[in-house]
Parts: sequence; structure tokens; C-alpha cells
Amino acid sequence: MKHALTIGWLYPDLMSTYGDRGNVIALEKRCGWRDIATTLVPIGQDTPSAKIQTLDLLFGGGAQDREQGLVMKDLYKKRDVILQHIEQMKPALFVCGAPQLMGKYYEPSIGKRIEGLGIFDITTRHPGQSSERLIGNTAAEVNWDGLGEKDHGSTTIIGFENHGGRTFLGKDAKPFAYVLEGFGNNGEDKTEGVMYKNAIGCYFHGPLLPKNPEIADWIIKKALEIKYQEKIELAFLDDSLEKKAHDTIVERLGISV
Ligand code: GLN
Repeated sequence: MKHALTIGWLYPDLMSTYGDRGNVIALEKRCGWRDIATTLVPIGQDTPSAKIQTLDLLFGGGAQDREQGLVMKDLYKKRDVILQHIEQMKPALFVCGAPQLMGKYYEPSIGKRIEGLGIFDITTRHPGQSSERLIGNTAAEVNWDGLGEKDHGSTTIIGFENHGGRTFLGKDAKPFAYVLEGFGNNGEDKTEGVMYKNAIGCYFHGPLLPKNPEIADWIIKKALEIKYQEKIELAFLDDSLEKKAHDTIVERLGISV
């Protein structure tokens, strides 16, 4: 095997809701089918910074408020090494609860504000237990320009969201996508998720990557290009089944693309 990637997964036992582990499986499978070796590193309390420095790609899934509070106690200790990963342009994907913790703060429905790592210029507030949760199937148009892919054609991503937190982008934050169906970051401004360098935060469970293989491949390609410092063309995979599933949902949601 010519290429190999090391994938880190933040707190798999505390942060993996609504099928988020499918993102890791999709990355492993899509690499394996192309003869790219992968090593999965679960990251927990005992994982030393030196190990995190060896990662080529980082993933963090969703969590309920209680778990987010538990995770955060440890996550502060890993701030520098996670920031370094992202500043080095290595890709990362954070879903739902994870980007909330990578932002400036998250105010849960009960209890004190959780100060985040401040890597994304976003803030999130849960308006309280009596307020409506933002739940349902969702679709959005990827902000390829923001991802540095100026000439990329349009891509509709599909997923499922379930969050109480309302996220607002700061002036330095770019949205990952624009809502076509569903609530997105806050149910008001049509933004979905956030991006910084090659790190993506989003509210798309479902999970995101098997349902939207183009995003999985973008992440894999970036990880390889940063690691090997060369232009990478990923081998073609037959995604006709994935496309069919994707298009069925797009049709069911009544979105014209
Ligand atoms: N606890 C957060 C919220 O409700 C995140 C939920 C999740 O990750 N699914 O906003």
C-alpha cells in the first residue's frame, strides 16, 4: 500500500449519537477500497498529545448535554494539539455536539455555560427544555467556495438533525453549507455548520459521510495531500447505490437541485 492515514475519533464512548460512527466506517471503507491503509485511534482521557500529533484526520460526533460537560473537562487539556492539527490544514469533521465544543461556548438547557475551545468562531445557546428541538431530515447546499474549491459544481448534502442548541456564526466564521430544508444552525439565518481551514463543523447526523460520499472523499483527499505534500487523485468508486439513496431523499423532500 502506497498511502496510509491515521484517523482519530474523539471520545467514541461519550460522543456518538444518531449513527455518527458511520462516518468513521465510511472513511475506513472508502480508503480500504482504494488500497489506502487506515489506523483508527480512539481518543479518550488517557490519550497523550504525542499520539494526537500523529493523526492525519480527526473526527468528533454528537453528544447530549451531560456527556458534553463530561468531555469538556478533558478536552481543554487537548486544546493546543487539536488547534495545531487544524492550523496545519489537516482535515477534521465535527458533528453536532462536537462543533459546539470547538466553538466559543455552549449554553446547555440546564446548568452553567460550557466554555469551548474557541477554534470555530461560533457560539451556541440552548433556549431551555421547554423550547422546540430542531429535529428532522435536512438538506443543504455545500459552500465549496468557502472550502477553497472555487470551480466546484453545486452539491446538495442530505442528513438528519436533532439539536436543542442554536448556533450563531461570528464575523470570522464561514458556513459549511446553506439550508435547503430543515433548520440548520439556528432555524433563522439559513446557515448550516461552520468551517475553518480544513475543519468542518455541521449538524448533519444520518450519518453525514455515507449519505454524502463526495464530502468523505474531499476529507480523504485533503488528508492525503497534507500528509504526502503531493496532488492526489482518488481512484473512482462506484457510488451508484449511494447516489440513488441520496436522490430518493432529495426527491422526497421536494427539493429542486
Ligand atoms: N446537546 C446538543 C444539543 O442538543 C447536541 C446534540 C447532539 O449532538 N445531537 O444541541
